[in-house]
Formats: sequence, structure tokens, C-alpha cells
Amino acid sequence: MVDTEKGIWLHGLQVSGITHVALGDLLGKMFGVTVVVEDVARCLAHLESLRCKPENARDLVYLYLGAGVGAGLILRTEPYYGRHGMAGEVGHLIVEEAGARCSCGNTGCLETVVSSASILGRFQRRLSEGVISSLQKYRDGGGLSLEVIRDAASDGDRLAQSTLYELGTLLGEAASKIIKLFNPGTLIIGGPVALLGEHFFEPMRIRIEQKVIPEMLVDLAIKTAPSNPDEEAVGAACLAERCFWETATESFG
Ligand SMILES: [Zn+2]
Repeated sequence: MVDTEKGIWLHGLQVSGITHVALGDLLGKMFGVTVVVEDVARCLAHLESLRCKPENARDLVYLYLGAGVGAGLILRTEPYYGRHGMAGEVGHLIVEEAGARCSCGNTGCLETVVSSASILGRFQRRLSEGVISSLQKYRDGGGLSLEVIRDAASDGDRLAQSTLYELGTLLGEAASKIIKLFNPGTLIIGGPVALLGEHFFEPMRIRIEQKVIPEMLVDLAIKTAPSNPDEEAVGAACLAERCFWETATESFG
């Protein structure tokens, strides 16, 4: 999580005990350039808004599913930051009653359900309970990955299919809330977890259709595709360039 306004990296799931690092100042002094500290979901949202047809780029939400979970918001063609540059922290929408404890202190947050580590953890727990599955060979021995889970579901593995259905439904619960809040024209679900494919996304779509007012779904483009690190870097560069021109315009204007 970052505070874009102050250029501070606040905290992250994989780095416990280190918080509130003035990353913008540190890197700026090190390299002698202006540094923009940005959220990966916002970088990808901006990149997709540049790629979309103008009518689809106007109100766009990019829901990023990876080590962390968050949303990048483009509202009326502009990246939306909120008061502290932290808008879009949808990873902490609560979707599972009595769910796992989240780093934010609550339980059942979206991030504890569909982040990459939480998905792998859920599968490991079920395998350790002895559920019959082609994935049992990965129990205790490592090697379990999102790709392996996707392939097992495609090959008919019932544990993989039913667990992805459960996770996709919970994702749909959060996506429904996001659609109701922002009424976007485009919703993109990306990040590494998006490679899980249709056994994950079909229940998400079903839940969205169950929960969202039908009129809000008219002309809503829902795109699901895994992003790669190159796209994240390109998105960051595009957003940094946008900040540069905004600053330059203010200086000369
Ligand atoms: Zn949380």
C-alpha cells in the first residue's frame, strides 16, 4: 500500500515490520530524478485506459489480483486517487464471514481469499485434510502453483473445480460491490491470479448477474486476463510521464 501524495510506501503483505518508508525521497536522492510512488493497480488501469476505445476508457476499474489485491480507478478519464492517494483499497472489502485474519486486522477481507498466497494456502489446507484430488502429490512437497490448480480444474479435478467455484463466487461478491459503487463502463480483472481462467471467472460472472442491478450491466465490458510484469512497468512509465507533463504544465502555466 502506498501514499502517492507523499511518496511513501506504507506497508506490504510480504514485508512485515517495515512500514512508512519515504521511498520517493530515498530513490530521488539516489538517482537524482523525480520519483513517483504509485500503486500497481493504478498503473495498469492507466495503461488499459490508453489502450481502450475512448468510450470504454472513460470510467474504468482495474481489479488487480496478485500477492496483494487492489483496484485502480479511472473516473471520467482521470486516475482517481482519493484524499490520501489510497483510493481503491478493495482488498479489504469483507467477503467471507468468519474468514481468515487479514493484515489490516479484520477477518474475511478479499485479499485473504483471492491473493495468490491465500489461494495456495486454502488448497494446501484442503489437501492436508486428505480430500481426494489429483493435487495430493503436491501435499507437503511443494510445487503447488496457480498454473497447476488451473490445469487440474480443466482436467476435471473436483477439489480444484469446487474450490475455484467458491473463490470465484466470493470474487463476484466484491466485484458486485465495486460495480454498484462506481458504475464503470469497463471492469478488468488482471494480475497473476487471473490465469486461473474460466473455472474461476464463470462463478464470478454468475454472482455479478445475481447481485447487480441489471441496468448497470448494460454495455459493461468485463475483461479477464493475467497481466505480466512488463505491462506493470509500462503502465508505471505511462503514469510517470503523465505526472511529468502535469507538473511541467503547472510550472509554465
Ligand atoms: Zn483486510
